[in-house]
Amino acid sequence: VKTDAEWRAALTSKQYNVLRDKGTERAFTGDTWDTPPQPGEYRCAACDALLFKGTDKFVSDCGWPAFDKAIKGSIHYHTDRTFGMSRTEVTCARCEGHLGHVFEDGPKDTTGVRYCINSVSIKFKPDTASKDLATEAISETK
Ligand SMILES: [Zn+2]
Repeated sequence: VKTDAEWRAALTSKQYNVLRDKGTERAFTGDTWDTPPQPGEYRCAACDALLFKGTDKFVSDCGWPAFDKAIKGSIHYHTDRTFGMSRTEVTCARCEGHLGHVFEDGPKDTTGVRYCINSVSIKFKPDTASKDLATEAISETK
């Protein structure tokens, strides 16, 4: 567990604003909001905990990275009543860093849920063994 000063030193100001201050990055501005599902891991940008599988990502028109499921036990869920709404906030179970929210409007053919995550809160580690596959998938969608 880090102190506030240590988090400030460890994270960029954008990351600090989202992860520790529960800010939200502007839609359609994050690095990975529109990257396709691909083999690999999405880890917490603050503490490196494994949060989502790269293949569970989907491109949502909401403007943030979206996943239809999370790694079991990696996420904590909290009721968030700010802004006059009742939403479910999701945080990293290890460091409690704010990730985003989860909604029940995800793909109906899978889980029906949508984890709506700030891209500054997560970092992608491609599965290098399937790298060629991932590159192919990217060039196909661009
Ligand atoms: Zn974390």
